[in-house]
Amino acid sequence: MIDHADLLVLGITLLVLALVVALAVLTTLRRRSERAYVDQLRDREERLKLALWATGEHYWDYDLVADKLRRSQPDGTASDDGLPQLPQLVELVQVIHPDDLPLVRERLRKYLEGATPMFRSEHRVLDVRDEWTWIRARGRVVARDADGRVRRVAGTSLNITNDRHVERERRIASAVLRNMNEAVTVLDGDFRFVSVNPAFTRMTGYEDEQVIGRGADLLDSPQHDPAFYRHVRDIATRQGRFSGEMWQRRKDGEEFLCAIETSVVQEAEGEPPLYVAVLSDITQQKRAEQELRYLANFDTLTNLPNRTLLSERLSRAIVRARRENNRVAVLFLDLDRFKDINDSLGHAAGDRILRSAAVRLQQTVGQHHTVARLSGDEFTVVLENLDTLADADKIAREIIMAFEAPLIIDERQEISISPSIGISVYPDHGQVPTELLKQADTAMYQAKAAGRRTFVRYDDVMDVSIRQRATIAGALRKVIDRGELHLVYQPRLALESSRITGVEALLRWTSVEHGVIPPSVFIPLAEESGLILEIGEWALREACLTLRRWRQHGLADLNMAVNMSVLQLLRGNFPDVVRRILADTGIPPGALELELTESVLMANAVQTANKLQAFRAIGVSLAIDDFGTGYSSLAYLKRLPITTIKIDKEFIDDLSRDPDDAAITSTVITMAHSLGLNVVAEGVETQAQLDFLRNKDCDEIQGFWLSPPLETHACLSFIQHWNQGQGRTGAGTP
Ligand code: C2E
Ligand code: MG
Ligand code: MG
Repeated sequence: MIDHADLLVLGITLLVLALVVALAVLTTLRRRSERAYVDQLRDREERLKLALWATGEHYWDYDLVADKLRRSQPDGTASDDGLPQLPQLVELVQVIHPDDLPLVRERLRKYLEGATPMFRSEHRVLDVRDEWTWIRARGRVVARDADGRVRRVAGTSLNITNDRHVERERRIASAVLRNMNEAVTVLDGDFRFVSVNPAFTRMTGYEDEQVIGRGADLLDSPQHDPAFYRHVRDIATRQGRFSGEMWQRRKDGEEFLCAIETSVVQEAEGEPPLYVAVLSDITQQKRAEQELRYLANFDTLTNLPNRTLLSERLSRAIVRARRENNRVAVLFLDLDRFKDINDSLGHAAGDRILRSAAVRLQQTVGQHHTVARLSGDEFTVVLENLDTLADADKIAREIIMAFEAPLIIDERQEISISPSIGISVYPDHGQVPTELLKQADTAMYQAKAAGRRTFVRYDDVMDVSIRQRATIAGALRKVIDRGELHLVYQPRLALESSRITGVEALLRWTSVEHGVIPPSVFIPLAEESGLILEIGEWALREACLTLRRWRQHGLADLNMAVNMSVLQLLRGNFPDVVRRILADTGIPPGALELELTESVLMANAVQTANKLQAFRAIGVSLAIDDFGTGYSSLAYLKRLPITTIKIDKEFIDDLSRDPDDAAITSTVITMAHSLGLNVVAEGVETQAQLDFLRNKDCDEIQGFWLSPPLETHACLSFIQHWNQGQGRTGAGTP
């Protein structure tokens, strides 16, 4: 029989069993649901990982209470349990760039305050390689505490280092394009504008919307024919690039020269190519280059070639002449008395004269010959294709003739100016430009010495005379001992009485070695060497001796004029010499006149004024020779103790041709008379000149009209004959 107690035990046992079973079932069930949950979680995590992997983003989680951050490994690896690996909490300062951290915090603050719907920030963080990486982070609140305060913000971040790099480069490139001085344009495969920069608009005048879609031929200029532009585009298409210079035309029609560089930009496969063209306006630069080249080769006053270009052209002319077996002539031309004109009329007028002379010269020789200006009033003409030496003379003569007509320097003013020309010829006188120029220059000086307004062809005798200056100077030393010097005498006619009242003694040197040497050559040499003191003394004594003889022959009133060098005036005791010679020869001081050239007097004005006084004290007369060639004013003459003015031959020459010279001459006569001076006109050659001078009350004349300088005896008979017969037979009879 089952008793009551047993039943109770059984019941309890069954209950316990049932409980155990229930517990086991429950545990199993819980395990199952937990596993399902984990699976689910893992699945979600897997998807999140996939999503993050696909977008290249990372996960982060920021704990505001701890002020610490967790983030997934940048490489996206997961932890063993499959959850994103969020390493230890890190401080913000450990991972965010110190420069960016304040900004990050500020953005977070704004988000939390509700100012932005989401936390967003671009900043630098340390990556696994310990390098700063730019990221773009986005996040939201994920947890709050019981009071609703935010505890965590989580989100994703994306590495944008590359993007930022590309973006930065794009920004720089576009800033460069915008700010470039060069016009840049992108063209499509058909050379239609795709885009242009602001410099393009500045350069061409076209706004971008006016050109985009239109062909680049919009800028083609008529300076090139269309085939040229087609050719250029063809090169760019075939070779992928073109660089060169071309004319283009602006919107307003103005043309400009531009340097252009075109290169192809290969687009993705299958896409048509684009071209980038860079244009720079080089019009100004070209103009400046041309100007520089011009300045280097041309004289800016007259626009004639300068010395540099002349040498170049002369060299080429010589090469051609050698090949073609003909001649080249160099004409070296100097304007007579230009310095005086320049000084008296001023430099502006001087410049106009030079310009006008340049035009006259070029017109005379023609455009096919080179006319150059070397300096000041010196011009050079290069004549090519000459057969004979005489051809050069002919053109020189034409130039002198062309200058007979006055130069017009402005509406009111005309100026007469003559050239002196020296000529040298290739191959006769020299082989190289420098040599020919030097010889033409030498010949020009001879032309000056020969009385100006003339030309002289260089010849070897001249060269010898130049090269043997030293020899001549040497010969000059022995000149007195050898008796190679003598004097000739040129009579002076007093116009009022029509009588010859005086003569001028002029030196002549006939050298055994060198023949007759003109005073214009040996007097400067004698002055240079100081020999002029000795020679001058000899001439003075000789002249006084002649005068004494002539006086004994009945010419009791005749006066003698002797030229005096400045050296005699300044050095030594020339007044004593004069006094002694006068005493020795018995000539009264009043019968002697000493002539000093004007330029010499003026160059040493103060010194000479004092010295001259010593001569006046002796009682000899003093004349200013070649008056008008120097720079003295008549007023200044008042202060010099002079008695006579000799108007230079140049003025007398021009009396009938140049109204200015006629005016100057009559003014000089009037003013000289008002100063109590005697006026002598030099170089009177024609009856017309004589008539003019007589009309203006000139006191005396000297010149070929009356007589050239004569040998002693010839002169004596001339004077005797004249004064007895009261003048020249025929036209010259006063
Ligand atoms: P100057 O004293 O002015 O002499 C006048 C010059 O003009 C002389 O040249 C004379 O021959 C020339 N002449 C005179 N009338 C005419 C004319 O109608 N037509 C032309 N074409 N020429 C004329 P020359 O004799 O050759 O003398 C040249 C210069 O040499 C002189 O110029 C003078 O400055 C200087 N000279 C001459 N003898 C002496 C001297 O003894 N001592 C010094 N220191 N110089 C002298
Ligand atoms: Mg004289
Ligand atoms: Mg003279």
